[in-house]
Amino acid sequence: SRFRHDYLEVRGLRVTFGGFVAVRDVDLTVTQGDLRFLIGPNGAGKTTLIDAITGLVGATGSARFGGTELLGRGTHRIARDGVGRTFQTASVFEELTVLQNLDIAAGARRGPSTLLRRRRGTPEAVEQALELVGLGALRDTTAGVLAHGQKQWLEIGMLLVQDAHLMLLDEPVAGMTQAEREATGELLRRIGSQRVVVVVEHDMEFLRSYADSVTVMHQGRVLAEGTVAEVQNDPAVVEVYLGA
Ligand code: ADP
Repeated sequence: SRFRHDYLEVRGLRVTFGGFVAVRDVDLTVTQGDLRFLIGPNGAGKTTLIDAITGLVGATGSARFGGTELLGRGTHRIARDGVGRTFQTASVFEELTVLQNLDIAAGARRGPSTLLRRRRGTPEAVEQALELVGLGALRDTTAGVLAHGQKQWLEIGMLLVQDAHLMLLDEPVAGMTQAEREATGELLRRIGSQRVVVVVEHDMEFLRSYADSVTVMHQGRVLAEGTVAEVQNDPAVVEVYLGA
């Protein structure tokens, strides 16, 4: 892969809304194989940080992936640079089947010209993604009738076929059953070994089970970083969570 040894490198990133600083001079480095969880109280700036990296909100500073500066490039070019994200509410095409959703995502990766061409058979990347996210048996099911967890997996599958090598996932296990959480954790492990993955998540039990490392944000800043055990014992982190 052209992304094999790449990493996300955020330096001095700042996002302001009017006079309010939502993300304040954040530095963040995440490498492939280091499943990173991003936590912090409500309003800490986690989603805004992801929005900035994916071009949804303007930011100053730097956010590089694969040697490319992402800031100022615009959402579509950032996606083509191999950056993908999910939202708290899965955004799949409800009227289309699982396979059609993946086909569209694959087409988006190749660009509009190939999207118009008739395709024969199913591209290998789509088959691999179906297998990886565990939706092979549901390929012809309409996405709208999928369970909440299955929609999240489909959305992750769409990022896989788009060849996203930096995946930013916003609370992927929110609202999932315990069984769905475990399946998602295993999926994230598999994906995280080959890609750069950042997961925004509140669930501490999930974090303990699957996080390789954790970045804690508070009031727009990075408050602490390390293993789950390290950040849990960090006095500043304890204070923020007990004081909340
Ligand atoms: P988190 O994801 O950690 O809960 P957010 O990134 O959603 O936090 O929000 C960080 C802060 O920025 C909050 O105080 C929020 O109210 C504010 N904020 C987020 N988006 C906007 C916006 N579009 N306009 C103004 N303020 C915003």
